[in-house]
Amino acid sequence: MPNSFQSVQFSLCVFCGSRMGIDADFGQAARNLGEVLARNKWRLVYGAGDVGLMGEVARATQALGGETFGVIPEHLMSLEAGKHDLSHFVITQTMHERKKVMFMNSNAMVILPGGAGTLDEFFEVVTWRHLGLHSKPIYLLNINGYWDVLLTMLDQMIEQGFADSNFCDHISVVNTVTALEQALSDYLARRKPARV
Ligand code: AMP
Repeated sequence: MPNSFQSVQFSLCVFCGSRMGIDADFGQAARNLGEVLARNKWRLVYGAGDVGLMGEVARATQALGGETFGVIPEHLMSLEAGKHDLSHFVITQTMHERKKVMFMNSNAMVILPGGAGTLDEFFEVVTWRHLGLHSKPIYLLNINGYWDVLLTMLDQMIEQGFADSNFCDHISVVNTVTALEQALSDYLARRKPARV
């Protein structure tokens, strides 16, 4: 059966807060990322909400004609203002299905500032990668050092013997959206020969 996603070259899964956070730079980064996605014709995959940083990145992608793929569980449709006008809008029964559909339709993941939900998503893809269940790159967008305490915690886990010394090897920390765009472009350039 033909699938409508075959024409998509690259999909980036964006995990981020369902709130805006205090620092105005978080919202700006989300909007910048949406523009980067649209300009590069990279598809946005995300949690389909129209709230917080999630809404910012989606609206900015759409404003420049970018492709959007959103996945939301039924019970969050009103709480997170399910965004019906996305290119692809998927409603799941559960949170687990949501994360699975997002993961399966993405080539890489980026984590913007966010709360407990964002951390849950981060740890799932990082631990899966560490266990060898996938090889998709994971970028941590550390706007204004928001994730510094998380990085310290990960170092502490390693130092105190609760994680392998290579636990952080698959997490690429980038401090700006421009650095993220460059890292993704480099990744795609490296990936190309392998697909010929
Ligand atoms: P937050 O970072 O808490 O604002 O949440 C960001 C996104 O993660 C929202 O779309 C939440 O619905 C989602 N989320 C919250 N808790 C979980 C969880 N336990 N598992 C998966 N996603 C979650």
